[in-house]
Amino acid sequence: MSSQLQEDRVARAGGWLGLLIVVSGAMVLTGWVFGVPPLRTLWTGDVTMKANTAVAFMLIGGSLWALHRPGRTSVVRLAAAMAALIGLLTLLEYLVPVHLGIDQWLFADPASVLPGRMAVMTALDVLLLATAMWTIDVELDHAIRPSNWLVLAVASNAFVAMLGYLYGVEAFYRLVAVSAMAPHTAALFLLASAAVVMVRPRTRFVRRIMRDDAAGLVNRRLLPAAVLLPPALAWLALQGQLAGLYSSTYRLALTAGSSVAILVGLVWWSAATLQRQRGEQRALQQANAWQQGILNSANFSVISTDTNGVIRTINATAAEKLGYRPDELQGKATPVLLHDPAELAARAETLTADLGRAVSAGWEAFVAKARMGQCDENDWTYIRKDGTRFPVRLSVTAMHDDAGRVTGFLGVAYDITLQKEAEAKLRQLARSDALTGLANRSHFEEHLTAAIERSRRRGVAMALLFLDIDHFKQVNDTFGHEGGDVVLQEFAQRLCRLTRATDLVARLAGDEFVVILEGSVDADSVRRIADEVVNAMREPIQIFETPHAVSASIGVAMLDPAATSTTPLLRRADNALYAAKRGGRGGYHVEG
Ligand code: GH3
Ligand code: MG
Repeated sequence: MSSQLQEDRVARAGGWLGLLIVVSGAMVLTGWVFGVPPLRTLWTGDVTMKANTAVAFMLIGGSLWALHRPGRTSVVRLAAAMAALIGLLTLLEYLVPVHLGIDQWLFADPASVLPGRMAVMTALDVLLLATAMWTIDVELDHAIRPSNWLVLAVASNAFVAMLGYLYGVEAFYRLVAVSAMAPHTAALFLLASAAVVMVRPRTRFVRRIMRDDAAGLVNRRLLPAAVLLPPALAWLALQGQLAGLYSSTYRLALTAGSSVAILVGLVWWSAATLQRQRGEQRALQQANAWQQGILNSANFSVISTDTNGVIRTINATAAEKLGYRPDELQGKATPVLLHDPAELAARAETLTADLGRAVSAGWEAFVAKARMGQCDENDWTYIRKDGTRFPVRLSVTAMHDDAGRVTGFLGVAYDITLQKEAEAKLRQLARSDALTGLANRSHFEEHLTAAIERSRRRGVAMALLFLDIDHFKQVNDTFGHEGGDVVLQEFAQRLCRLTRATDLVARLAGDEFVVILEGSVDADSVRRIADEVVNAMREPIQIFETPHAVSASIGVAMLDPAATSTTPLLRRADNALYAAKRGGRGGYHVEG
């Protein structure tokens, strides 16, 4: 149970005690109204609770009842002031021998000594109790509450009077010669003192008793025993002596012996409970340490935040991967520190479209879905302390308390650097030719479309060279397929050497290659390149240590952005190649 809830209960119980005091005071008054002596005197023949005392109790009880409900301060103060006045006037009557008339104010008291006047100690306690009620919310330095000290004095007086009645020691309840505190007056003082402490439970005293730890346990078990046990045991032993069972010496020994036995038992029991609690605590700590160990050993970054994105815990893997010490991140806000603002903005835009409501490019971009009870898994970039970055797949879920309220969020992320690299490698492989490492047909087609688009947009010419090795079949026939491959690879390398990095060289199939030339190309420059290629290919190629000369034919097609030819560029280059082959091979033909 939360301590807040416990304190509310204690405060309520204090209020109900107040009501009980009101009812008790009312019963005593009834005794006065209808002349029912037992209600006024309880079991002691001559000592009565005076009508004024009963009224004072009703006022104090009423103010206690009013106190545990908010906004009744003026009622509380008025009742306390009236009770204080009753106590004060009575004390005045004792100090200055005058009759102010308040003793017989309500009822004619037939008592012979000081008729109708409450005892000195009762008047003093009424005054103290009323003052405690008046100052109930006053707190001095060091959390000292005057009201608690005042009721401690009241309770001590009442306790002494109770002891007097228990053992028949008149001096204890008749402190000042003529006046005695009635037993039910003493009992109501004890109740009222407890109620004053209870209605304001946010005090050090009450907390010390209610604490959920060793100190609380010892206080709860041993304090009541220390207060109640000795008087109870002594009273029981006294009854035995009065019944003639044994002598007073025997009674003393009996009281001492039984007190020791019971107190030792209590202490032993408390110690055993504490030891068990300590054991449970240790087991809990071990379980916690184990769970912490699991968290820290997992190859996942686990970061928990409060509902506003402020980091509360971070596991060892996360700290290590991000390059921070765990305490450096605790209390910091995650999005600002670990994430790329551009990525957050993009995610916020997607979410805004998905959810149909504006999602800001901050913390909400992470948790909008988690708040809706969904697990939100996405790829993000984490930024390390040194500013370097790495990709992660991050899932964000909401954490709930027992009542189902969202208490925070949990981000579990794993490093996907290797996965991203593998994906990039695959993409690269899908676009390149395995034998030569050049771009493959699909990469070439993509690039050609984009290059034509660029050429048209910028209004600059481009050229496409379509190359085919002459009599390549013969190479295969002479040197085998592997020999043919050597030629293809060498051919590719020479092509790359002869072109610029911005030109694209691709192998379309078999011994067919293409080159896309972009930027400041004209008919002359293209012819020069074609010449260079034709000449370079004539250089003999080492095939398994045998030099072998091959040649290549080239078909050239130029794209003039101003011209309106509808024949595809590749078809035109292919036609030009056909013409070059027909022209005797080992040369080039420019289409158009
Ligand atoms: P032309 O002068 O008319 O081009 O005659 P050619 O013998 O070169 O004929 P063509 O270009 O049609 O022949 C291409 C040959 O390339 C056919 C095929 O056996 C061979 N080839 C296709 N792919 C490969 C390959 O990956 N490695 C090798 N070694 N040969 C291949
Ligand atoms: Mg060929």
